[in-house]
Amino acid sequence: MSELHVAFLPFPAFGHINTTLPIVAELVRRGHRVTFATNERFAPLAAGAGADVLRYESWLASRKLPDTVDADYLAHEPVRSIDEAIATVPLYEAGFAEDVPDVLLYDVSTFAAGRVLARKWKRPAIELFATFASNEHYSLTQQIGAMYADEIDGSHPAIIDFFVKQGQLWAEHGLDGMTLEEFNAPADEANLVFLPRRFQPAQETFDDRFAFVGTCIGSRATEPEWQPPAPDRPVVLVSMGSFSYDHQDAFVRTCVEAFTGTPWHVVMSVGEQFDLGGLGEVPDNIQLMRWVPQLAVLERADVFVSHAGMNSVMESMYFGTPVVALPHMPEQRLIASRLAELGLGVHLPPAEVTAERLRTAVTTLASDEGVRTRVRSLSDDLRATDGPSLAAGYIEARARG
Ligand code: UDP
Repeated sequence: MSELHVAFLPFPAFGHINTTLPIVAELVRRGHRVTFATNERFAPLAAGAGADVLRYESWLASRKLPDTVDADYLAHEPVRSIDEAIATVPLYEAGFAEDVPDVLLYDVSTFAAGRVLARKWKRPAIELFATFASNEHYSLTQQIGAMYADEIDGSHPAIIDFFVKQGQLWAEHGLDGMTLEEFNAPADEANLVFLPRRFQPAQETFDDRFAFVGTCIGSRATEPEWQPPAPDRPVVLVSMGSFSYDHQDAFVRTCVEAFTGTPWHVVMSVGEQFDLGGLGEVPDNIQLMRWVPQLAVLERADVFVSHAGMNSVMESMYFGTPVVALPHMPEQRLIASRLAELGLGVHLPPAEVTAERLRTAVTTLASDEGVRTRVRSLSDDLRATDGPSLAAGYIEARARG
């Protein structure tokens, strides 16, 4: 069968890119051609996985995230996403003009661009969910909106702005015949979800439009080396994800205080901004790194203290490591609640964190046999699922109708 040309338009952030690169590598191994649209930061990783790179710069990906999300910030998020679509659709069109792909994969967080292009190119598309999937019964957007229900309603100026700009986008690209429901549907006809089905809320309502392929773990060849401590030392990995937040400074200090003088070997990701020099002497059992080789450390870790980003949580489950979740963003709070609900970890609201509470949460979780058994069972499922191969097969099937 002839090779396919597959286009990936993921949101340029580690949490959205890390799951897609192993699929790119698998498609290339099967003889297909992949074009991966991304920014300068991720271009070498995409090229390393075997893709041709279409470079663009994303304002949305380069903004600094706030420490906490208030109602007004949240209400503006859809407008930011539409602004990104207005800016990027012409770039994608120019980049693919002579070489329209057979199938395109686009991110749920910037869905408008993917849906405009699929309609203009008349090509099948697949929506990528590196978070909980949404359908007609369960909507992540509505779950998050409900957290702010007293402060945001349909008449908020940002929501009106969103629909005005969406109208502009359609008009610019000749899509006037479409309905709002059609364009803003919670999911596409085909969707790849990077979770095991049992982690998805309302899982029984997700039909065969959704392929739950688990987490896609690939090679991270460019990451720093890490030497594990002696086998009898318990290891805790601490990471607040791939973005730098202002609150991280105080949190690093809390962690150092929590684990100084304990048997724990702590590996902590502190990000690019953190002033390592300002911390003074740090004991030997605490290893601070600007970027941790997360998969290598998780393979050995007894507990993961995480901001509950979906990739981090799924990677932790893959390696059988329970999670102490300290979520800051609304979506992370839902992930932390789901972890706690399924007995795979604990949810510790950041406002309640002290050095002592953190140490107690980690030590208690490490010796909780019930949690360990459930996490091991999920880990067995994830390891038995070849996510990249399932996803590649799904893409081939969708492209060939
Ligand atoms: N990551 C890593 N080392 C670090 C920090 C993050 O490898 O020091 C990776 C991590 O393995 C995961 C991704 O960055 O794949 C973060 O994605 P996640 O969805 O957990 O959180 P986000 O950064 O998007 O909030």
